[in-house]
Amino acid sequence: MVNTYKCPGCGAPIEFDGVQGEMVCDYCGKHVNVSEMNTETDSYECDVEDATEDKSEYGSFDSYKCSNCGAEILTDEHTSATMCSYCGSPALIKNRLNGELMPAAVIPFRLNKAMAKEKFASWTRKGMLTPSCFKKEATVNSIEGIYVPFWLYDYDAHVDMTADATRVKRERKGDMEYTHTSHYKILREIEASYDKIPADASARMPDDVMDKLEPFDYNDMTKFEMPYLSGYCSEKYNFTKEEMNYRAERRANSYAFKECRDTIKGYSSIKITNSRTRLRRNRAMYTLFPVWMLNYKYKNKDYFFAVNGQTGKIVGKLPLSKKKMALWFFGIFAGMEGIMLLFGGLL
Ligand SMILES: [Zn+2]
Ligand SMILES: [Zn+2]
Repeated sequence: MVNTYKCPGCGAPIEFDGVQGEMVCDYCGKHVNVSEMNTETDSYECDVEDATEDKSEYGSFDSYKCSNCGAEILTDEHTSATMCSYCGSPALIKNRLNGELMPAAVIPFRLNKAMAKEKFASWTRKGMLTPSCFKKEATVNSIEGIYVPFWLYDYDAHVDMTADATRVKRERKGDMEYTHTSHYKILREIEASYDKIPADASARMPDDVMDKLEPFDYNDMTKFEMPYLSGYCSEKYNFTKEEMNYRAERRANSYAFKECRDTIKGYSSIKITNSRTRLRRNRAMYTLFPVWMLNYKYKNKDYFFAVNGQTGKIVGKLPLSKKKMALWFFGIFAGMEGIMLLFGGLL
């Protein structure tokens, strides 16, 4: 079933506007609250019967009829929200947002497309190591607002830790200096719980980029409703909560270790001799987080740039200019040599 929300005022396709936090109609300017959008009356629908599935060498493709203009919409097997490439109408593929595939929560977009483009523009102006012609020559190929599927995990952690530590005291009596070393055997046992550790469940999004876009502010998290996706792209999770568990577990493990380790302080030396963490997973919640993805071309190579669609935090790859790199390194080494000369003079 393909679904396109329509404006209750004029009947045109209507999209979610992140800045307003509401559905806003581009044609008549009407504002509608997300919870007031009604799938039954305020949308066009096409039956899933007219979806055809093609298995090709590129994987599996589905095609749907745009419920606004009737053109064919091609999607890959994971897409759950997209736009008709002919009329631009938002198209939501309902059976990929239902049942097991229905997200529990969503963080809606707060930045719109113009704001994401501005982030890119000011970043190209600031780039320290960017070739000077970059800002003139980089062309943005595409910009997409994507709701990326994430699993959020809750864990209870129990850590047992043992350590050897010393405390060293020095004192001087007359001409003699005495060193007192006290040795300690340390035992620690802590319980901790961690809520909503995220791991992205999308095969398309590079994990390191998604990690760098964190943190998302969970205060904006709200119960999932389909209209939030109207006007954006989204996909259903590619990896199940079992498949992604290891990534979140690794983080929970290192948080718990650090927390326990940090309780041992005030010693001259600390050596962890044994540490064991047991984790219990309580819950995994399926959510969608907002990301603007820009693809840009520079000297015939493709790069990408990502913006956290909620907080505006950016992650980008800049082309490096050889000339500027050389200058930069020269600067550092010249600086270090100066310091060494200074020490040399003092000794
Ligand atoms: Zn309207
Ligand atoms: Zn269309």
